[in-house]
Amino acid sequence: MTLPPLVCTLVDASVDAAAVVDRKLELLYFNQQYLRLAGLRRRELVGRRVRGMCHEHFGLETCTEACVASRSFELGRTVRVDEVSSGRLGLRLIVVAIPLVDSSGEVYAVIEQYRDVTAEGRLQDNYRALLERERAQKHLLAQEVARQTAELERVNESLLAALTEVSRVARTDGLTGLANRRAFDEQLRDLLARAERRRTPLSLILFDLDHFKRVNDQFGHPAGDQLLQEFARALTASVREAHLVSRVGGEEFAVLLPGASWEDGQRVATRVQERARQVGLGTTASAGVAGFPSDADDAMELLRAADWALYAAKRAGRNCVVCARSLRDGAPRPRDGGTDDELLALRTPENVD
Ligand code: GH3
Ligand code: MG
Ligand code: MG
Repeated sequence: MTLPPLVCTLVDASVDAAAVVDRKLELLYFNQQYLRLAGLRRRELVGRRVRGMCHEHFGLETCTEACVASRSFELGRTVRVDEVSSGRLGLRLIVVAIPLVDSSGEVYAVIEQYRDVTAEGRLQDNYRALLERERAQKHLLAQEVARQTAELERVNESLLAALTEVSRVARTDGLTGLANRRAFDEQLRDLLARAERRRTPLSLILFDLDHFKRVNDQFGHPAGDQLLQEFARALTASVREAHLVSRVGGEEFAVLLPGASWEDGQRVATRVQERARQVGLGTTASAGVAGFPSDADDAMELLRAADWALYAAKRAGRNCVVCARSLRDGAPRPRDGGTDDELLALRTPENVD
């Protein structure tokens, strides 16, 4: 078949690889780029009847099922297939088939054009790989952030637990396990403020073991410690859960009774002394009781009043309960004649053993 010169000119002028095939898909004409793309020499094709360029030369993967040229013949119009890959050449191609129609409207040949888009495809692949890598890195980063956040939370939790423990230890007496003077001061302040707000009474009992020094002197310090622990147990066992027991000094203890009057305090103090006797403590305790609002207007006054009563109990011969209520105005106060050791309320936590 002789092709019109214009067709040959067009094929030659094409910047893409181009060739013309007949209805049997046999090669009629081709340009230089076609040879280059197929990796062939002209003499390998000239004078030979070579069938279907895409089948024969490019090994296009989609060609067997949907040969672009065949479809163009069938449909009588231009057919384009993007991104066809040529397994044999390791290329990616865009293939366009343009039908050539004679004067009777018959498609007598098809021009096939092959554009090599391998480089663009590689770029796209690289870009996709880059995106994928970035996504994977983001994922790893998110995982690492989550891991570190969880770790921080764990550290926070253990810090909080340590802080809670430190705060508990700072408010606890190591020997008896009771609240210490620091905790007592806070409790007294808080409970008095609450009693004031709610207009409810608050009673305070101060205990001081009698002649405790002798226990140490006679039986040794460890025996004294043991006695302090036993008294702490007897004290705790004699009061209700709502009553707050503290060790406020060496052999000095306090009980705060929210909602209780000074009379209630007196009863509890007597009960504690009885229990101490029952358990055979080996020593006695003196107690001073005061109440809010009957004996004091504020926390400091309540403490002073209870201390005054305790001082009076010591002066009255020890092993007894004295209530601030029962003291006459002129009764001696710890401040008046007592030594520093006798002034419970004026002791600071630092100089308490
Ligand atoms: P009083 O009846 O007047 O209260 O006499 P006392 O001997 O109980 O009082 P004093 O204040 O003279 O002595 C208290 C003693 O308590 C002195 C101190 O060595 C002792 N002491 C204080 N803290 C502790 C402690 O933690 N363990 C022991 N074993 N003894 C302590
Ligand atoms: Mg004392
Ligand atoms: Mg004492």
